[in-house]
Amino acid sequence: MSGLQAPRGTFDVLPDDARRRALVERVAQRVLEAAGYARIETPAFEATELFARGVGEATDIVAKEMYTFDDGGGRSLTLRPEGTAPVCRAYVEHGMHKLSQPVRLWYLSSFFRHEAPQAGRYRQFWQVGAEALGSDDPALDAESIVLLAELLAELGVRDVRLRIASLGAAPERAIYRDDLAVFLREHSEQLSAEVRARIELNPLRAFDSDHPGTRAAMVFAPRLADYISVADRAHFADVCELLDEVGLVYELDATLVRGLDYYTRTVFEFTSDALGAQSGVGGGGRYDRLVEQLGGQPTPGLGWAAGVERILLASDGPPVAPVPVDLFVAYTAPGLRNAAFTLASAARRAGLAAQLELAGRGLKGQMKFAGRLGARHVAILGAEETVLKDMESGEQREVGRGEVIAAIKRVTL
Ligand code: AMP
Repeated sequence: MSGLQAPRGTFDVLPDDARRRALVERVAQRVLEAAGYARIETPAFEATELFARGVGEATDIVAKEMYTFDDGGGRSLTLRPEGTAPVCRAYVEHGMHKLSQPVRLWYLSSFFRHEAPQAGRYRQFWQVGAEALGSDDPALDAESIVLLAELLAELGVRDVRLRIASLGAAPERAIYRDDLAVFLREHSEQLSAEVRARIELNPLRAFDSDHPGTRAAMVFAPRLADYISVADRAHFADVCELLDEVGLVYELDATLVRGLDYYTRTVFEFTSDALGAQSGVGGGGRYDRLVEQLGGQPTPGLGWAAGVERILLASDGPPVAPVPVDLFVAYTAPGLRNAAFTLASAARRAGLAAQLELAGRGLKGQMKFAGRLGARHVAILGAEETVLKDMESGEQREVGRGEVIAAIKRVTL
């Protein structure tokens, strides 16, 4: 059984890391619940069809990154690669359209994608996400973006940049895509081989190329912003106005492409220059057709997800200290173990953080261990007497065994 390791692209969350993650969770809860978002948890796996229909067959995620398996009964299931489609499924399944709209939900869960692992890119990773369904008010878009900005700021994510754009609606986007493909074919001799090979599949990717010839050609490429409808343009202008209103700095980026098919109108992405190649910290957008695509009534919606590992990589918050130990119960002879056990249990019931000797150390070893734990007090149970030691001042005094808890509570609580 030697040499077993966690699968490639996965990792163990060890205690120091777990405490930093718990902080992310607490801050997310405070920021999001203060704005009316309530927590939701959906299953770790779903019917494969949910993602095929929701995320889109042609996306990288569905085409090659899903962990899909047969459940043994002929049904195809998939470990969730993202959180939006499951939340929309839950909205429809539980008839949430009958609640006051918008329905706002947040989650912090793990997701699974079969990607090539590298720093900041894993096969099981955690996302904190927020979805708002049932309203297409531009103020909801702006609020959602502001909440993610606040979350990242509160968590100390460094060098954050926000890019936003409007994708308009699917029909105009289809026309744009065709026009862009025509343009690319006309300029094909200037393009990199890679971009040329993807003209039909994903012409928008040409905007991301570093290839000098491609970049020079793309300056004259048609822009999606010129294709979207007057109504969508006004919607986007409203979102921008509200962001300006609260002083949130953003860059308009007409080339913003996101890897999911369901987006319409507003899309946005937060990156951190403190990260390497995988600079995306979080992003999202509107998906006004998604609920309908999943079998619900036409329901507008929008949301975002941010990667917990990327947040932690891009922030340099101090390590979070473990819970301080108020009392360590030491004992001088094996026969006093039960008394120590009883005292530590009673102390915890009384609201103290208490531990007892559990590894058979001698008294000297126990005192050393209590010091390493940072215990504030040590009760040393002897056959005749109990000594209470204040570890900070070094002061020791004899107390009745029944008075230990009250004595500590007087000074700590
Ligand atoms: P997406 O759902 O692809 O829009 O991703 C949203 C955020 O999740 C990204 O900005 C990343 O912070 C994070 N993320 C996405 N894929 C991974 C991955 N494979 N490993 C770690 N974080 C990821």
